[in-house]
Amino acid sequence: PARPLYLGLDFGTSGARAAVIDDDGRLVQDVKCGYGEGADADWPAAWKRVLFELIGSLDPDIRSEVVSLAFDGTSGTALLVDPRDGAPLAPPKLYNEAQEGRAVEAAKAIAPAAHTATAPSSTLCKLLSWWLEEESNEDCEEVHNLAAFKGGSGGEGGGGCRGGGSSGWRRTAASRGLTTLGPTVNDSDRSNRSSNQGGSAAGSGCKGGEGTDPRVLATTGRGPYPLLLHQADWLAGLLYGMCDPYGNAGVSDWNNALKLGYDPASESYPGWLATQPFSPLLPPRVVSPGAPVAPLAPSAAARCGLRPDCLVCGGTTDSIAAFLAAGVTQAGQAVTSLGSTLAVKLLSTTRVDDAAYGVYSHRLGDVWLVGGASNSGGAVLRRFFTDQQLRDLTPALNPDRPTGLDYYPLPGPGERFPVADTGLQPRMSPRPKDDAVFLQGLLEGIAQIESDAYHRLAQLGASPLKEVLTAGGGAANPKWSLIRQRLLGVPLRAAEYGEACYGTALLARQGARKAASESLPRGQ
Ligand code: ADP
Repeated sequence: PARPLYLGLDFGTSGARAAVIDDDGRLVQDVKCGYGEGADADWPAAWKRVLFELIGSLDPDIRSEVVSLAFDGTSGTALLVDPRDGAPLAPPKLYNEAQEGRAVEAAKAIAPAAHTATAPSSTLCKLLSWWLEEESNEDCEEVHNLAAFKGGSGGEGGGGCRGGGSSGWRRTAASRGLTTLGPTVNDSDRSNRSSNQGGSAAGSGCKGGEGTDPRVLATTGRGPYPLLLHQADWLAGLLYGMCDPYGNAGVSDWNNALKLGYDPASESYPGWLATQPFSPLLPPRVVSPGAPVAPLAPSAAARCGLRPDCLVCGGTTDSIAAFLAAGVTQAGQAVTSLGSTLAVKLLSTTRVDDAAYGVYSHRLGDVWLVGGASNSGGAVLRRFFTDQQLRDLTPALNPDRPTGLDYYPLPGPGERFPVADTGLQPRMSPRPKDDAVFLQGLLEGIAQIESDAYHRLAQLGASPLKEVLTAGGGAANPKWSLIRQRLLGVPLRAAEYGEACYGTALLARQGARKAASESLPRGQ
């Protein structure tokens, strides 16, 4: 087209947004759409409806110029689907759903100590919850033994449940002709599914139509395996038809797959994960955020009014997308999110992971996005003041005269980062009579936590801080910015764009440029 445009689609916690940008990063159009009442009865149906509504609400002329698109979704939201058409086999497990003890124990038994994939709401724990559903079947007593998950336990076990009594997703999977049994350890398609490039017909089930593909049957004696996808992966799959040009059903990205246990440094599933009996369920291809994935499926292009050669690119998570929206590109640039919680993210040439502080790193191209989150933040302010009161009191603040109150504002006892202390008590007293002084004390306390957070990241080995951008509800407070500026000691400014969909549109632009430079085959 005369003017190539790039589309970012954000599926956040409360609704979805889309942004279209041009080559210069200018916002051309943005639209939003709530999930609607009753969406929780069938989340995937709601996401799918909103996806087509969002794209449909873009100006048709703009739509016809979109050359690439990408998705972000809530981190840790997982679906178990039929790899041939993406049909969900069970209700999704949402980002904030902590899994029960058995799944978490199983994750801890296989993953390195304190790996982010062992957190109760991780995608790995969600996958294990689904996988273990079978193991409660009385025909499968032996797989209660977690040793079966250590891998390499021989060709027999592997979690195969042959008896009846299967329920939930396995019943649905079986009715669709999918393999519902755990594969044996030496299954010949294992390596295909766990390798990054993936791409065997046997593993992906892409080429076989209704599960009767002879290549699939020859390898497994059954249909293809169900597939685990993240929300962003699944939505992208709906547009490119689930199967990429290499035959992989299911493509994920480094950022979404981190909580599954994917290692973005080696760009592969580590051995402890790739050798598990459930590894055939992992997304077979995991790409860099913003990497070209596949052109739109012709039917999706027609339905959306998008160009048939529009390229779907690798996505990310909603919080990383919001970070990208701020426009940072250099190591040392950081974004503080002053929303309900205080979160900091810093671009670093070094990877920093420290479970004690809940600090971990996502890979973005050749740099790392090191992040940590305090329990402090705007939610504490809201306990004392409405947003209107905050605005009304702000002119009375005097950043040049610190209160010396030395608060540590917390919504309750316990802090993780920048101090790891589960017993840390909130410090928000004595409360001065003057509300403006009290508010200034709270803002100074949160600003000190922010400054300590960046010092902690440096101490843990991250690149030195050079500049801080601010996103979230607290970004708009000019007096608070002055207080923070003094403590941070580096340039501070509000992020120009705070919407995740804008950051995801930047990824789509990156993908289109990469595809153009590599002259990848486009279109069908
Ligand atoms: P969320 O994380 O819930 O999306 P937002 O980014 O919308 O949060 O930010 C909301 C937070 O911003 C609230 O907790 C509120 O206390 C804080 N906030 C709103 N207005 C101001 C202000 N003028 N000064 C400081 N903080 C503010």
